[in-house]
This record gives sequence, C-alpha cells and structure tokens, in this order.
Amino acid sequence: MEVERAARPEVSPEPGGRAELAAVLDQLETLSRFDRPDTATQAEQAAEAARGLGDATLELRARLVQADLARRRGDVAGAGRTAQEVQRWATEHGARHLLSRSHFLLAAVLQELGDLSLALEHAVLAVDLLDADGPPAQRIDHLARLADCLGLQGDQGARERYTEVLLLAQELGDVDRQLLVLNNHAYVETVTGRYDAALELSTRLQTLAAAHAVPLHVGRLDTIARALIGLGRLAEAEAALAPGTAREALDASPDGDAGADFLLTLAEVQRRRGSVAAAQQTLDECVRRCDRHGLTSIRVRARREQAELHAAAGDYRAAFAEHKTYCQEALDLQSAQRDARARALQAMHETTEARRQSRRYRELSLRDPLTGLYNRRHVDDEFPRLLDRAAAEGVGVAVALLDLDHFKQVNDRWSHDVGDQVLRAVAALLEATASAAGVAHPGTFAARMGGEEFLLVLVGGDLAAAVRRLEDLRRAVSGHPWTELADGLEVTTSIGVAGTLGPSTPAALLGRADEHLYGAKTRGRDRVVSDLG
Ligand code: GH3
Ligand code: MG
Ligand code: MG
Repeated sequence: MEVERAARPEVSPEPGGRAELAAVLDQLETLSRFDRPDTATQAEQAAEAARGLGDATLELRARLVQADLARRRGDVAGAGRTAQEVQRWATEHGARHLLSRSHFLLAAVLQELGDLSLALEHAVLAVDLLDADGPPAQRIDHLARLADCLGLQGDQGARERYTEVLLLAQELGDVDRQLLVLNNHAYVETVTGRYDAALELSTRLQTLAAAHAVPLHVGRLDTIARALIGLGRLAEAEAALAPGTAREALDASPDGDAGADFLLTLAEVQRRRGSVAAAQQTLDECVRRCDRHGLTSIRVRARREQAELHAAAGDYRAAFAEHKTYCQEALDLQSAQRDARARALQAMHETTEARRQSRRYRELSLRDPLTGLYNRRHVDDEFPRLLDRAAAEGVGVAVALLDLDHFKQVNDRWSHDVGDQVLRAVAALLEATASAAGVAHPGTFAARMGGEEFLLVLVGGDLAAAVRRLEDLRRAVSGHPWTELADGLEVTTSIGVAGTLGPSTPAALLGRADEHLYGAKTRGRDRVVSDLG
C-alpha cells in the first residue's frame, strides 16, 4: 500500500501529567497514519515522558508509534518484533487499547510480509478491541486497514467497508482520511484489475483534493495514472502525473521510494505515447534516485523499462542485453526478497511458538504425568504464596493429606497396572472435589505428593465445612464402583486435616495434617481425622 502523508496540526511536545500525555498519544497514534517528519521526535519525547511518569502502558503506546514509523522506513521485521512484544505485555496486563494498537501494527507488518490471511486476522482484532469512545479518527484507521486487508485478498466485502469508512471520515470532516481511504480503495481496485472502479475513485480523489487545495503527492498521482493506464487512456494518464514532476513533489517522500516509483510510471506512459527521448530522461532520473536511495526493486523494474525503450528506439541488440540483465536481476531479487520475508515471518512465528512451548513445558514440569494433578514442585512453589494471600485476605485454609489404605496389596493382589488405574480414578475424584470447592474459592487445588499420597488445599470456609467435604470425598472413594476395574477390588483412604486456626506456616500445617493422617491409620483407616478430632 502506498505510504500516505498530509499536513496535520501540531502536537504539544511537552506533556505534563498522565492524562495530558495520554491525550498526546491519542494524537500521535492518529498522526502516525501520515508520515510527518516530526512525529518520530514527538514519539520519542512521549516515550521519555511516560518513562518519567513510570507509566508502562503510555510508554509502550509511544514505542508502537515509533515502530510503525520505522516500518514505513523499511524496518518491517523490527516493527513486527516490537508489536509482538507489546502485544504480549498488553495481553498479560489487560491493556485493551494497547492490544488493539499492536494488532493494528501487526496487520500492516504481515501485509507487507505477504501473509495476507494472518494480516486479516490481526486487522479484525484491531477493530474489535478498539474502545468505542476512543478517537473516531482511530476507528477510521482501523476499519480502513481491515478494508485494505480484505481488498488485497480480493474479498468482495472490501468495497462495502471502504464505503462505510469513507462515510465516517466525511461525518468527521476529516479530509486527510477521506483522501487516504479513496486512494487505498482505488489502489486495491487497480491491483485487482477493476480499472473502471479505480478511475471513478481516482476522480473523486482528485476532486476532493482540489476542493480543499490539498496537493496530491506522487504516490496518489501514481494510483490515478495506473487506473488510466489500465483503461488505455495514456494522454490523460500523463496529464494526471504532471503535477508530480516538480522536484519538491518528487523529494517529498523521505526514502525516495514514492518518487522513483512515480518516475517509472511516467517513463512508461511517455514511451507508450511515442516520446522516447522524454521517457529516457525520466528513466535516467528514476535510476539516479534508485542508486542514491538503494531502491533495489524499483531499479530492477527500471531495467525492464530500459529494454522497452531500447526497442522503441530501434536498438534491438541493446534491448536484448538489457532484458537479459533484467531477467537475471529480477530472479535474484525475487529469491532474496522471498528469503528476507521468510526469515522475518519465521522470526515472528518462532517467538510465538517458543513462548507457547516454554509455557507448555513449565506447565508440564508442574504436573504429575500419571494423574495430571499438580506435583510436589507446584506445592512447594504455590502453597506458601497461597497461605500468604489467604492470610492477607483473612480467609481460612484447610490442608488435607490423603493416603490410600493398604495400597501395596492392590499392586500385589491385582497388578501394578490396576494400581495405576486406581491412582488415576482417585485423582479424578480429588479433582472433582477441588473444582467444586474452587468455584466459590479460587486457589483451591489438588496435588499428588508422590506414591499413593495426595494433598488437597481448600481455601475459604471454616474447618468444619472442609471436614464435611473431605468426609464426602472419603465416602466417594470407598463407594466408587471399583469392581468394574477388577473383581473384588476395594479401595479406601485415610485423611488428615489441619486448618489455619492453629499455627499455620506451610511446614506446620503439613506436619499437623500428617500427624492426623497417622492418627487415622492407627484408628483403623478409612476415616478423616482433623484438628477438630
Ligand atoms: P497404609 O494403609 O499403611 O498406607 O498401607 P500401604 O500399603 O498403602 O502403605 P505403603 O506406603 O507401604 O505402600 C504404598 C505402595 O504404593 C507402595 C508402592 O508399591 C505403591 N506405589 C507407589 N507409587 C505407585 C505408582 O505410581 N503406581 C502403583 N501402581 N503403585 C505405586
Ligand atoms: Mg503411603
Ligand atoms: Mg498407603
């Protein structure tokens, strides 16, 4: 998509408080849609001010603006990485606006990297996550990007979207955004070969710009000319390009990209209209700009035009030689670009994948593989924290240790495999108790401490209520239809329970629960013993 620029009001460079800085960022985000030279400086100042205030959300908003500007200057992969980092932070901290903006940038990055379907997903999220009472200009930007992604995919829905978003820009009286939407829509129509529609939009673009005395920069003139060239209206195409031939118009784009592209289109039109000498001059200027700004891809396309020009001048030998060079360089460029895109895309996918994997590994390392319950490592990590939280909130905690009765005999009389299945079934009963109790009191969890020993931590409620729950669990274990698993199989469990009414360091609680468990065993097993007796 062509880069868009327009004159915009100034932003105060010295933000004071948080609210003021947030307002500045609203504006900078809105401005970043147009590539003004001072936006980068303002974004840097805003980032610094946010750091000074210690406000990470505002700082990351400024960083996204900076990354977007860097993307426009060619650092697509870097912008992608920043957007992903910000997205992760915003997800973890529930920063919805920031999340929306990171999706907005990722859509542009992926569009440039050629992954249109992923770009579309991000564009949809960027719209969905945008706050309804945010700046309306931003809503337009997000909807327009969604339309761009749909349009470049050849989706028919794009046209309707562009119409809707153009209407919003009109209602807002935002001429810059009307021009932007008209240009992008026209560009998409030329890409899909619908030159009539492209021309109709181009005409509206020209009329609107003229009515507001906004000069059309070379990128937009190029869009208009392409529509006319597509319809074979070469004289009109050349006339449409005329305003862009002034040096200041050509130099307006910071990377020289739009200027060189424009000159290439002009050279083609001039040649096809028979002005070979003028076309050669235009092309020479285009090549100079390519060399000065390192614009490899336009330079290669200029070779094709040069071959055409040699042929038009009757020099077929030179035309052939140039065409050969063009073909070779085009192939080289294609594979270099493919590689670069593939690398950038892979880098983006890898960070997502690595994160997913490491979360998965971390989660796995905290789980017991046989039963899927948390393991002792999780208990060591989580239990002290849970107790601190509960103490701070003034909530009671009950800790239950369970040990299956005569479990050795299960292995001996049936098999180790039956023993394993018993452990899994008991784990499921524990998990059911934990999740039933956890509905009212998050934090509640079950774990396998090792062998046939389990832990259940019940948060909230008093000890008597916890003991009732554990009695139910004990009955659920003994009443389970074990004979379905093996003939004559019976399983019971002894349970020791300690509550936070007494001394309640992690070690003290577990020690007391273990004492009660021992008491349950010595008193005949298949029973619950607690601080209450
Ligand atoms: P008590 O009522 O006194 O607790 O008797 P018990 O037989 O349950 O006591 P003990 O702790 O001596 O035996 C536990 C047995 O649990 C020993 C071991 O073979 C078995 N066991 C430990 N881990 C596993 C496992 O992962 N799978 C199976 N099938 N058995 C296990
Ligand atoms: Mg045991
Ligand atoms: Mg046992």
